Amino acid sequence: MCGIIGYIGKKEIVPLLITGLKRMEYRGYDSAGLTVLNNDSKVLTRKKKGRVADLEQLINSEKIHSNIGIAHTRWATHGFPNDVNAHPHNDSQEKISIVHNGIIENYAVIKKKLLSEGFEFRSETDTEVLCLLIERFYLKVNDLELAVRLALNEVKGTFGLAIVSTYDPDKIIAARRGSPLILGVGDNEYFVASDASALIEHTKNVVYLDDDEMAILSPDGYITKTISNVQTNNEVKTLEFDLEQIEKGGFEHFMLKEIYEQTQTITDGFRGRLLIDEGNVKLGGLRTVKEDFRNAKRIIISACGTSYNAALVGEYLIEQLAQIPVEVEYASEFRYRSPVLFDDDIVIVISQSGETADTLAAVQEAKQRGIKVIGLVNVVGSSIARQTDAGIYVHAGPEIGVASTKAFTSQLTILTLLALYLGRMRNISSEEGLKIARELSAIPEKIKQILNIAPEIEKIAKTYSYSRNYLYLGRGFNYPVALEGALKLKEISYIHAEGYPAAEMKHGPIALIDENMPVVFIAPKDEIYEKIVSNIEEVKARKGKVIVVTNIGNNELDRLADHIIKIPETLPILTPILSVVPLQLMAYYTAKELNRDIDKPRNLAKSVTVE
Ligand code: GLU
Repeated sequence: MCGIIGYIGKKEIVPLLITGLKRMEYRGYDSAGLTVLNNDSKVLTRKKKGRVADLEQLINSEKIHSNIGIAHTRWATHGFPNDVNAHPHNDSQEKISIVHNGIIENYAVIKKKLLSEGFEFRSETDTEVLCLLIERFYLKVNDLELAVRLALNEVKGTFGLAIVSTYDPDKIIAARRGSPLILGVGDNEYFVASDASALIEHTKNVVYLDDDEMAILSPDGYITKTISNVQTNNEVKTLEFDLEQIEKGGFEHFMLKEIYEQTQTITDGFRGRLLIDEGNVKLGGLRTVKEDFRNAKRIIISACGTSYNAALVGEYLIEQLAQIPVEVEYASEFRYRSPVLFDDDIVIVISQSGETADTLAAVQEAKQRGIKVIGLVNVVGSSIARQTDAGIYVHAGPEIGVASTKAFTSQLTILTLLALYLGRMRNISSEEGLKIARELSAIPEKIKQILNIAPEIEKIAKTYSYSRNYLYLGRGFNYPVALEGALKLKEISYIHAEGYPAAEMKHGPIALIDENMPVVFIAPKDEIYEKIVSNIEEVKARKGKVIVVTNIGNNELDRLADHIIKIPETLPILTPILSVVPLQLMAYYTAKELNRDIDKPRNLAKSVTVE
């Protein structure tokens, strides 16, 4: 999620690192820092909460000269965004310095061991644990590269990292597992970065590191090898993008990039939490409120916009799996209407940014009434994350496109985990738990299959881009998906769209249907499938244009639908995570056809910090 850059060569390093960080700032933006080596016996590290510009200001007055160093812009996962938790992290003697992208999942176990051996920690990050583990090994083997390899063998999770050390002052050591890392090959100068955008102004020659691979950079060259020390021979490739494109990872818009990232972000949401072989869930963030959940008589979920639609899915999920009554309420309503609350209620708030003003006010309202409030947010250390009693981060990574996509499916993933957690605590068998856990873990692969049919969805979107109105209809778990599909279309294409529970159509919206009205049905083969088929017939009888999202293998609707989008089958409770993806693509391609400003639609802001 974060940005990493390292350089070894002849140039003055500080301006180079700062520009590199600025190019990657969209990847992480809560703090920034750098370490350089300057012939001292200790590394020189400067880091600061805030933007790269704040770091720049901090070091402005200093005359730092060096031509080897590493830098980082952080998107916190473990520990608040503050000066101490910012990267780089150093060992106890300030001789080893590391920047890291990813999550060390077993950091708590390692930290406990290191504490018992007398190591002291300054920060709350998982990264510092890795740094001190490297130090521990270095003190034993006296060889930096070996120490890094030994430490990496002990950690679980994901990392893209770069290390410099006064023990070995002519080297940068880099390694990756699950987080991107690229080497830049210049003229007697070498770079490492998590993102090509930081390199492209210096060199177009790059080497992509694979998982479990590391690289040793020196002023005279570089070598790559596996973490288990087998030399590798990666081809030097030429970057063929311009700067602008690379920042979007080759995608035309951040929104499209984020839609495609969902194959990864969903895994990031359940990794380390979903116990697939036990059919259960571990949610460290809820440790302190476990008993409150056990005794809760009711849950109220409060949110705005896309998060509100996720909350509605959450209602169905929690009621079905845990049999706890759930109410969903717009945060803006909750805060002003004096809701009736009981001591054994729990309020859950959902917000991508964690700064949504209405949701924050709902948190304060519930807390003032003595109710436990749980946060489900994406941005670590945000106001809602700080003010709630406990929470679960959704780990979708920075979302830049204003219309939320990957944060929505990550919220659904976390709500599934929560419902399973509560269900297992109350009434779900381990067998049922196993089935859900296995299916959830298969979702990312199924999203890939949906992304493969993007060109078909693009065609449908283009066909109806002239429409003034759109209807989205779904039932049960897919009713909130209908709302979300309509919201996406409104947000970025400015076409009026409404979502309804399919059966409600005949109580009003049916009056709108004529040959100019596209109607999107979300109709997977579930227990209410037959009912929705009748609704499709009703639209067809009035000449509406029918676009159906159903399962692969269901050919029964081919005769009724004008267009059909087939998605893989899953459990009914998990379909929303899949069925929303074609609707995100529909909205995207419609807006593209209409030449809209997709990433920054008019009048909208990414984080709504005003009432
Ligand atoms: N897990 C690390 C932290 O919280 C790295 C986060 C990142 O990728 O920026 O500091």
